[in-house]
Amino acid sequence: MPGSSTKIVFLMYHELELPGRKLCQSDPGYVRYILPVETFRSQMQWLKQSAFRGLNVSEALHYPAGKNVCITFDDGCETDLIAAAPVLREFGFHATFYVTAGFINTPGYLSIDQLRQLDAEGFEVGCHSMTHPYLPDLTDAELRHEIADAKHQIEQILGHPIDHFSCPGGRYDWRTTMIAGSAKFRTVANSAFYANSEKTKRFHLGRVAMLRDLSLSEFGATCHGRGLWKKRLQHRTRLGVQLVLGNRAYDQIRAVLLRESRH
Ligand SMILES: [Zn+2]
Repeated sequence: MPGSSTKIVFLMYHELELPGRKLCQSDPGYVRYILPVETFRSQMQWLKQSAFRGLNVSEALHYPAGKNVCITFDDGCETDLIAAAPVLREFGFHATFYVTAGFINTPGYLSIDQLRQLDAEGFEVGCHSMTHPYLPDLTDAELRHEIADAKHQIEQILGHPIDHFSCPGGRYDWRTTMIAGSAKFRTVANSAFYANSEKTKRFHLGRVAMLRDLSLSEFGATCHGRGLWKKRLQHRTRLGVQLVLGNRAYDQIRAVLLRESRH
């Protein structure tokens, strides 16, 4: 019976790194979120050995009892199909791939055929906007294009409804959820650090970003929902700085800080 106390951590992945393959972007702010495929594989292996199940978003929304995580990918990179899918299949896990509609058929991202293949293999496809902007910066008309038109475009390719949306950069406002609702999305996922439960509003699903430097023990703690408050605190501090500076200035400063920290 799905208990109201059942909490599920939604994991958020991005492009994976394959030996000899160039990443879609190379700046430190991007690479921070990119895991080598072997790291991803060891995480999936850990989940299997620890008796976790890997669910897609639609399955997770039933909040089944037991040990579960929800596995999600953002952006719609080609590695969704050529790197992540084989590993997920190996361990018998499901996942939701949020695809940026306007990136389909561009270098490094899924082609139309690859997207259809991912869908045909039984993986769930969601939508991650049309052009990957920060949604709160947009006018209402631009928002509708990013949310409703993007959904329609992916549905035209796959020939069935797309139910789930994730926000680029995790940023959204009340207009985002309103327009997502009128576009008939069932859920909206952000990247706030909390586990979800039946009490979580469906347009405010939290997700935990998987960072390149996350150790396997930190990964395990995250899947058990431990230590999320710490990440939440860091996230709030970051949001406060974003509010003061605005998205663009924040990104410029963050890029400088990340560059500095590499030296
Ligand atoms: Zn993204």
